Amino acid sequence: MPQIKAPKGVADILPAQVRDWQRMERIIRRTLEAAGFAEIRLPIFEVTELFARSIGAETDIVSKEMYTFQDRGGRTFSLRPEGTAGAVRAYLEHRLYHGASDCRLYYLGPMFRAERPQAGRFRQFNQVGVEVFGLSEPGVDAEVIAVLMEMFTRLGLAGLRLDLNSLGCPECRPGYLRQLQCFLEAKRLLLCTDCQRRAEINPQRVFDCKQPGCQGILEDAPKSPDSLCAACRDHFRRVCDCLEQLGYAYQLNSRLVRGLDYYNRTAFEIVSLKLGAQNAIAGGGRYDGLVELLGGPSTPAFGYAIGLERLNMLLQLPSEPVQPWIYLVLLGDEAKRQGLLLLQELRKAGLSAQMGHQNKSLKKQLQHANKLEAPWVLILGEDELAAGNVILRDMRQGTQEELLQEQLIGKLKGIWTTKS
Ligand SMILES: [Zn+2]
Ligand SMILES: [Zn+2]
Repeated sequence: MPQIKAPKGVADILPAQVRDWQRMERIIRRTLEAAGFAEIRLPIFEVTELFARSIGAETDIVSKEMYTFQDRGGRTFSLRPEGTAGAVRAYLEHRLYHGASDCRLYYLGPMFRAERPQAGRFRQFNQVGVEVFGLSEPGVDAEVIAVLMEMFTRLGLAGLRLDLNSLGCPECRPGYLRQLQCFLEAKRLLLCTDCQRRAEINPQRVFDCKQPGCQGILEDAPKSPDSLCAACRDHFRRVCDCLEQLGYAYQLNSRLVRGLDYYNRTAFEIVSLKLGAQNAIAGGGRYDGLVELLGGPSTPAFGYAIGLERLNMLLQLPSEPVQPWIYLVLLGDEAKRQGLLLLQELRKAGLSAQMGHQNKSLKKQLQHANKLEAPWVLILGEDELAAGNVILRDMRQGTQEELLQEQLIGKLKGIWTTKS
């Protein structure tokens, strides 16, 4: 029979890697929860309209990259390409805006985009997303960015750069976009065909273009921070001040527009200087208009997402195998039968234990325990069974002692407690 493989761009996370993922996720969760974020678990698919309306129907994400399907009733759904739209939908559907003045959520899980697979980019990829609803103050932008920087410090990441931009608001952005459009119109024939199309539909998207020709032309393009209204300029200045006060260096990057339509004012990205072209590991910003766009009350919001595959590539944590603390070496059928009961007792006592099921020699079984790096081994054979004993072997010291079976659990729990 021909073998079936995983779809292109979809990766398995194997047992040897999962420990790194769990550790990474643990640090992320602890950092976020200590900063007042509560986890929300959102569905993997939503009605397509949710993404079309929030992300923008003409964006690459919605027009080219979503996995969209019809169910048996002819309704159209899409696998989520990002988490913010679903988070806002849930925020509104469950009226999470009632009660406290602000609502802080985070979510963690797979997202789906049919992009060309390349290093560090997958069609099913994992993100952690963070959203704060209900606060418009510039201090919030800085605080939430600082939580992210602290998380990366705890993860041991170095060589990061914080890029910052302001996209303006409905007051000042249209004027900027007209300026940009005029500039692009004048250079039209020098732009790639994609950018010619972008210039008409969504001019800011030209900054996403990777063509060296377009990049050169865009050096001279008008920059959004130069066209901000007084309120946006003040907001941006105060975000920058707060970050400086917290000791975070940043770089102004007027090309940073984010791929989504709903952002306003602060936009940021955290870039790793150790990765190649796909170097952003987290990004986000303010999206004060999105909640209203999705049918809710006018609600300021700020959020970001972290790409976990790229983050994981950077961590390079030493791989930790799943190792038992105690390994049971059992010699003979009766010992195996008793061993199963003992294994049960050890696990009930909260101890990590494994046993050898196959009929192998003492030497072979000890070699296996060694390979598993179990620090303790219990040996049970015919002699021990007859005497009601068990041998406890300290694998690191190479010493062993005989214990009465009824003393065993107490003794092991004692060692375990002093260890941890
Ligand atoms: Zn403005
Ligand atoms: Zn281009």
